[in-house]
Amino acid sequence: MSGMLIVISGPSGTGKGTIYNAVLKIMPDIATSISATTRAPRGNEKDGVEYYFLTNEQFDEMINGDGLLEYAEVFGNKYGTPKKRALDVVEAGGKIMLEIDVRGARQIKSKFGDCVSIFIMPPSLATLEARLRGRATDSEESIVRRLSEAKREIAESKYFDYVVFNDDLGVAVDEVVSIIRSEGLRTFRNGSKIKKILDE
Ligand code: 5GP
Repeated sequence: MSGMLIVISGPSGTGKGTIYNAVLKIMPDIATSISATTRAPRGNEKDGVEYYFLTNEQFDEMINGDGLLEYAEVFGNKYGTPKKRALDVVEAGGKIMLEIDVRGARQIKSKFGDCVSIFIMPPSLATLEARLRGRATDSEESIVRRLSEAKREIAESKYFDYVVFNDDLGVAVDEVVSIIRSEGLRTFRNGSKIKKILDE
C-alpha cells in the first residue's frame, strides 16, 4: 500500500463523527469515502452526498460484485465502504479516512494490515449514556441496545492500533491529527522518498 488508509471507529454516541469532521478541516488533503447504506435518508440527507442510499437488493448486488471493501449490519441496516474509490486513492499514494462501525473496521484491519485504525473511546459508560440521551433521537429501547452494543465494542478496542479517549473534544482531535502525522513518518511509508535521496 503506498498511501494511507485511516479508519476511525468506536461505539455509537462516542463522538467519532464529530472528531472525523474536525480532523478533515485541519487536514484537508485527506480524502473521504461515501458509504453505501440500506437505511432511509434522514432530514436533508441526499443520495451521493452523505451516503449512497440503496435498496437491500442493490446492496446485495454490490456485495456479490465484490464492490465493497467491508460491510456490516448496524442497528438493523447495512452499511459498506465502496471499494474502488478507497483503493484508487491509496494506490495513488493519497490518504483516505473512513468513519465506520467496529465490525467493519476489524474487517479492514484484517485485509489491510498497514491501515491505521483508531478507536474513539467514551470516557465512561455513564458519559456515553448521557450523550445518547442528550441526542434525543433514540427511544429508551434503542438507548439500552446501543449501550450493551457499546460494551461489546469496547472489548474489541484491543484489536485497534490506537485508542483516543474522547473526554475533551479538542484534545481528542489533536491526538488523532498527531497519530496521522506520525504514521506518515513511518519509515515503511517513505521508501520512495528515501530511495530518491540515495539515488541523487
Ligand atoms: P448513521 O446511520 O447514524 O449515519 O450511522 C450508523 C453507524 O454506521 C455509525 O456507527 C457509522 O460509523 C456506521 N457506518 C457508516 N458508514 C459505514 C460503512 O461504510 N461501513 C460500516 N461498517 N459502518 C458504517
